[in-house]
Amino acid sequence: MSKALSYLTEQLESWRKAGTYQRLRELESPCEPVARFDGKEVINLASNNYLGLANHPKLVEAERDAARRYGAGSGAVRTISGTMSIHMELERRIAAFKNVEASVVFQSGFAANAGTVAAILGPEDHIISDELNHASIIDGCRLSKAKIHIFRHRDPAHAEERLQALNGQSGRKLLITDGVFSMDGDIGILPQLADLAERYGAIMMVDDAHASGVLGKNGRGTIDHFNLHGRVDVQVGTLSKAIGVLGGYVCGSRDLIEFLYHRARPFLFSTSHPPAVAAACMAAFDILEQEPERIDRLWKNTRLFKDGLKANGFSTGASETPITPIMVGEAATAHAFSRELFGEGLYATGIGYPTVPQGKARIRTIVTAAHSPDVLERAIEILTRVATRMRIIG
Ligand SMILES: *Cc1c(COP(=O)(O)O)cnc(C)c1O
Repeated sequence: MSKALSYLTEQLESWRKAGTYQRLRELESPCEPVARFDGKEVINLASNNYLGLANHPKLVEAERDAARRYGAGSGAVRTISGTMSIHMELERRIAAFKNVEASVVFQSGFAANAGTVAAILGPEDHIISDELNHASIIDGCRLSKAKIHIFRHRDPAHAEERLQALNGQSGRKLLITDGVFSMDGDIGILPQLADLAERYGAIMMVDDAHASGVLGKNGRGTIDHFNLHGRVDVQVGTLSKAIGVLGGYVCGSRDLIEFLYHRARPFLFSTSHPPAVAAACMAAFDILEQEPERIDRLWKNTRLFKDGLKANGFSTGASETPITPIMVGEAATAHAFSRELFGEGLYATGIGYPTVPQGKARIRTIVTAAHSPDVLERAIEILTRVATRMRIIG
């Protein structure tokens, strides 16, 4: 073997020394509130399975049934011969659910964001983006080659300053935010941004990956939560988190969707979902509409867990949603905290730079509708015991 890649080995070594090297934990059971990772039963606070749908019998049955009828794979990209009726049915279903003209499904939320931003803008255009927007938005912005103008997190005055600075310049403008920020659990300032978009003639786009199935009526997301129907041009959602399966979608006008059918590169150049995926997603939307109590339970669990953490002296940052970060400061501390917790029977991931800024490392927890109050009380007890021992809380 040549030495051409030896710099990677050196980098890995330096991560080991710094305590930020991460081994992948193996999930040996289905994704459940108490699951088996690396041979150990632990309380699982590390999934995005908000509504407990990832292992729901109705979704599993829908997958089995679709695989038996239509096979394991679609055989092609959407624009060649990989558009199955079941893909179109899912897109119509999502559009009706979200109360928009049309929707297009991508292989992932990542592909939906990156593919859409890169398709609708070009080098002469401008993107005004919250500094904590998701990596898939950032990559889409870079791929578009548009000029990127970052505004301070959730700061509408700064966003407006950015827009004003573009007065008189040519090019289109896209104002873009996460609906719920994935590492902090706070909610995007959609109403203020929608006003700005209208005043400055910008396209308004929201990434609702963590709001789909969580916020709004029956989980319709932040646009419904803030009652901004008709005021957000491009809505992105994910099928990978609360919906429990895999995929991402874009919602908007019929022409936006038709345009993406022609120009979004992941749509044109990457194979469509297996039919089983589309079938399971539809089963999940059935459950969202028929069992809104799941979402109530998610929020009840969220309150119970957050109140317990705060009462015991934890710092949970700015979170307003089921994503609850526990702030610890240094990345090495976050990873050590995560390891100690695992030893005591709780799995929550340590997150440090570059996923979050230096000095803002944390463990991230997500409770789901499927956690029982007993399990959550036990989780709070473990977190408190380990954090006290490690002097993370006084
Ligand atoms: C997870 C996430 C995505 C990507 O969704 P996938 O379907 O997992 O690819 C996009 N945006 C945000 C804000 C996310 O948290």
